[in-house]
Amino acid sequence: MQEGGDAMICDVSTIVNTEGAELAVCGKVEVNDFLYDVEVVDASIDGKITCSGGVLVLAALVSGQLKTACARCLAELTLPLSFDFSETLVQEGTEEDKDVDSVIIFDGTEIDVGEIVANNILLNISSKYLCSENCQGLCPKCGKNLNEGKCDCDFFEIDPRWEKLKNFK
Ligand SMILES: [Zn+2]
Ligand SMILES: [Zn+2]
Repeated sequence: MQEGGDAMICDVSTIVNTEGAELAVCGKVEVNDFLYDVEVVDASIDGKITCSGGVLVLAALVSGQLKTACARCLAELTLPLSFDFSETLVQEGTEEDKDVDSVIIFDGTEIDVGEIVANNILLNISSKYLCSENCQGLCPKCGKNLNEGKCDCDFFEIDPRWEKLKNFK
């Protein structure tokens, strides 16, 4: 496996035609796409590509960290990222490349494992993370973090629907 820049390109020429042959795929993965303001840091994979039944199967454990903010109180959060996945990889032009929905077609003998892993990481990112299930969020008026205690705001007054009605008078 070569690691040049952001790419994690795997040369599968030694296993692609050998039933049962394996190739270890380990290393760091760069995720450059951002989703829902979640930053993926220190992502790496530990897995292998196995030649099985005329196709290649990539199975790997992904680990790393997610940096984001609590959806309610905006506190910075660092969360562990850990999941495993498996993808079927089919060489273009072979019998098995018909079922395009569930497989990844690759050209030649090089597979961009980094891209496959990055896509799987994005699939495992949620749109919302909370610092705790009971997070009280921020006061919409004064901005105080209500997890640290109540503020003195009068919530009836600041309801924007009432605010509008007052202006009609
Ligand atoms: Zn929170
Ligand atoms: Zn307040």
